[in-house]
Amino acid sequence: MILPVVLDLRGRPCLVVGGGDVARRKAEELLAEGAVVTVVAPEALPSLEALAAAGELVLERRGYRAGEAAAYRLVFAATDDPETNHLAARDAEAARVWVNVADDPVACSFHVPARVKRGPLQIAVASEGVAPFAVRRIRRLLERRFASGWSAWTTAAGRFRARVRGKGLGDGEREALFDRYFSSTVDPETLAVRVPSAREVDEWLGEPRPSAGAAGRDGEPPRAGLVSLVGAGPGDPGLLTLLGRRRLMAADAVVVDRLAEAAVPPDLPARVELIRVGKEAGNHPVPQAQIEALLVSLAREGKRVVRLKGGDPCVFGRGGEEAEALREAGIAYEVVPGVTSGISVPTYAGIPVTYRDEAVCVTLVTAHECRKRDGQQVPWELLAREPHATIVGFMGVATLASVSERLVAGGMDPRTPAALIERGSTSAQRVVTATLRDLPATAREQEVVPPALFVIGSVVRHAERLDWFSNRPLSGVRLAVASPADGLLSLELAGAALVEVPYPLTPAARMALDALPLDGCLLRDASDAEAFAAERTAFGNGAVAYCLSREAAGRAEELGWGEVVAVREGARPDELVAVLGRRLEEVERHGPRRGCD
Ligand code: SAH
Repeated sequence: MILPVVLDLRGRPCLVVGGGDVARRKAEELLAEGAVVTVVAPEALPSLEALAAAGELVLERRGYRAGEAAAYRLVFAATDDPETNHLAARDAEAARVWVNVADDPVACSFHVPARVKRGPLQIAVASEGVAPFAVRRIRRLLERRFASGWSAWTTAAGRFRARVRGKGLGDGEREALFDRYFSSTVDPETLAVRVPSAREVDEWLGEPRPSAGAAGRDGEPPRAGLVSLVGAGPGDPGLLTLLGRRRLMAADAVVVDRLAEAAVPPDLPARVELIRVGKEAGNHPVPQAQIEALLVSLAREGKRVVRLKGGDPCVFGRGGEEAEALREAGIAYEVVPGVTSGISVPTYAGIPVTYRDEAVCVTLVTAHECRKRDGQQVPWELLAREPHATIVGFMGVATLASVSERLVAGGMDPRTPAALIERGSTSAQRVVTATLRDLPATAREQEVVPPALFVIGSVVRHAERLDWFSNRPLSGVRLAVASPADGLLSLELAGAALVEVPYPLTPAARMALDALPLDGCLLRDASDAEAFAAERTAFGNGAVAYCLSREAAGRAEELGWGEVVAVREGARPDELVAVLGRRLEEVERHGPRRGCD
């Protein structure tokens, strides 16, 4: 029989008996809640000593004295001596002080539930001590489902409540406002949340501010649409900007280019409408005029629209053209720049686009136009005469041969180093280097396909020496992992691309997963195995389960996972890197390692 209560411990005296790990955890928990903590122990961990030295708590270096529990509000008996623990428990009970004895549920008069803490929001899980293992797992599930955004959300909800209360409304109206707040900011399926903008809140409260510009004048819909032209970066999802991510998380609709699909955040709330307009195998892309019309009509519905483009929107991305069309239609818009592939992709291939004394000028050029027009726009002959420069060519796989010819005809040294980089910054990155003269043939042999960039200039010489990206033990490996992907930094630093997905999988997570081949899933525990098993189609039939515990491996086997690779229980991160690396070599020897098509 338990009644969960919420205790206000601020300023209240609490006793921890014991100086080991459990005692330290209890003392820290109490301190975090503002309690006045005394620790009694003949010997204490250095961290407890440090807390005492800093004046955070009182540490009495001695044994527990009979009767002293009576002076406190809560007592934690956490020594490794059952006698002492029981003495403290009996004292506490006699003095009607609440007591908790480590590892002895019967001697406890209270338990601390497992908690998920998000700022002022706390979710407690308890089972009357019947199934602590279940409680731990449920807490872990909740820990995943309630992302860190709930902290700011709860604080904002508190502010909203204060404003609603200040209005002196009736119960019904008040509840309706709370409903509106909740349903507009919480995705009930994924539990993703967002903090509403000040303007939105004003609107809900019926206190709209006079707004600048065309939006919000009399007779117009209450919320004017806005289009954010956002650059997604070259493909590595980490290169999406913070501002871009904020716009995506707050969007009503996202219109995505093919090149940007890999950078769509998998935790994008399911309520956000995702519209792909890029080319897919066998499908033509949506024509540009139609995309512009789509942006205009979505914005006219009052939606917040993100137009997500590869790289930077205004570098061969028609960002300028779309901004013109929006302006023409009287739609409010903004541009959120992105990391252009033109600079970043060479970097990922070990090619610095400028280098003291070697290259003092960079030309970003499209190699596409020279096929389209008779009179060429790009002065290749001029570029050919600039030895201290780097040429970065976009959309140039098909025209590489003619570009190379033109440059050589214009006087460029045919031995100038050149590179072609396919899907730069992603797990599928390939780099082909050759001389300017030989690059077209080498690229054909290696079957390089778009998206790829070519780089011409002496800086390409550095590619081999500075190849930091694909020299890492796990480069080329792409793995799905259940959110949150904490504690996996070493995998990332070893070069693995981790796609951190929520489950159940959202459309955005599917889009991100599908954008590039996947090698497998990392399963930490049985609940990961179960969650991912339900979604296995998204990972392809042969996707390998890399299991980080016996429990996960066992469950994955039971669920009929195609291939299960168990990493030793409790393995250190570097072992994990080694296991994955070995397996990769193996598969490379025995054929394609792609399990997803
Ligand atoms: N706005 C984008 C470019 C769009 S044009 C940007 O700033 O990066 C599309 C071309 O960009 C592709 O044909 C290719 O030449 C280049 N590109 C984009 N992403 C790339 C990547 N990850 N690797 C290699 N080339 C890429």
